[in-house]
Amino acid sequence: MMALPHAELPPTAGLPARWRDFAPPWRRGFARAAAAWLGSDWALLTSSGTAALCIALQALKTLAPRRRQVVLPAYTCPLVAEAVLHAGLTPRLCDTRPGHFDFDPAQLAGCCDADTLAVVSTHLAGRIADVALARRLAAACGGFVIEDAAQAFGARMRDADGTWRSVGLAGDIGVCSFSAGKGLTLYEGGLLLARAAHVRAALQEAQERLQRPRPLLELRRSLQLLGYAALYRPATLGVVYGAPLRRALARGDVAAAVGDRPRREIPLHRVGVLRESAGARALQRYRVHLEATCRRAAALRVQLHTVPGLRILEDAEGQRGIWMFLLLHLPDPRARDAALAPLWGAGLGATRLFAHALPDYPQLRGRIESPPLPQARAFAARTLTLGNSAWLRQSGLERVLTALRAALA
Ligand SMILES: *Cc1c(COP(=O)(O)O)cnc(C)c1O
Repeated sequence: MMALPHAELPPTAGLPARWRDFAPPWRRGFARAAAAWLGSDWALLTSSGTAALCIALQALKTLAPRRRQVVLPAYTCPLVAEAVLHAGLTPRLCDTRPGHFDFDPAQLAGCCDADTLAVVSTHLAGRIADVALARRLAAACGGFVIEDAAQAFGARMRDADGTWRSVGLAGDIGVCSFSAGKGLTLYEGGLLLARAAHVRAALQEAQERLQRPRPLLELRRSLQLLGYAALYRPATLGVVYGAPLRRALARGDVAAAVGDRPRREIPLHRVGVLRESAGARALQRYRVHLEATCRRAAALRVQLHTVPGLRILEDAEGQRGIWMFLLLHLPDPRARDAALAPLWGAGLGATRLFAHALPDYPQLRGRIESPPLPQARAFAARTLTLGNSAWLRQSGLERVLTALRAALA
């Protein structure tokens, strides 16, 4: 494709939709196909990842009605905290380990007690969290583990017995997201995974109890997915992604620039057959897409590693994450801000993962606890992301490298 003057790159390497994804015959069966692809014989399709979390929490409430607290990493998607509040439960915020998004083990041990309903072990940016740690500590206090794999659909990790398994299957309940920007998209959608029969039954029951028909909303989502198919390309992303981003930056609205502004509601409804059908067809291309993004990320990392002082979050031994974008960690907030200033809004796919640590979101202030959380706040202030787009040219990458070098000099 020719590089257009106003080309805009996406912040994540989403799988583009194709027109023939929408052609009849339309069939249900996306959840089953996605589950099979992940190596499971069971999954429930939900209207979003947040909806999946709401249903998971309501299901766990029926299994352990006296427990009220849900332990969250203090650096995660604010919608996770919204889901906990929506379920009438209390988020318990756990600080992260230094320079990382995952739980600090000692802090996590201190957060788990007889009131713990669940620990939400969270894979971010395609990188893999220590689910075994969460399982150990949750088991010790009698709580459940929810594995938030919203940013890691298709990531794999090696079990204690040496087999490679998909993320989302190691906890009691796994949650995936198919919202736009997460890789594979239904524009909005989510998946619930579980292994134990009684947990599956509780999830099924909770979904049937809470789900409502929303035909107009479903129509809107179908049109939005068609819009995604039409506009997810450099020539048009400037209109739907770049222009609102630059407006948000101009008025200093970081949360809007990042895209994690509050949502008005958490609709729980059934995904329509058109979107399911399109999703199932996109799923057939997803493995090849993951392989291509993995190769591109390897090449990108080689160039980024030449920048002194820059750290890239990587997979550890026994982890094979996904690479929709790269999460970059700088030594201090000043350097992060200096690096991002010339890049954010430049159409190169650089942005931040989340605007803040959880208690610092205005919409959550006063509704959740606000302990010190020094590591989660430091992580929020020192990180930026770079989209791993197939449309990123060497000239664009040079601009990224120049900005990073200047900021770290
Ligand atoms: C996006 C996201 C969610 C919510 O998923 P939606 O499908 O957007 O509702 C939950 N957790 C994490 C870590 C996310 O990134």
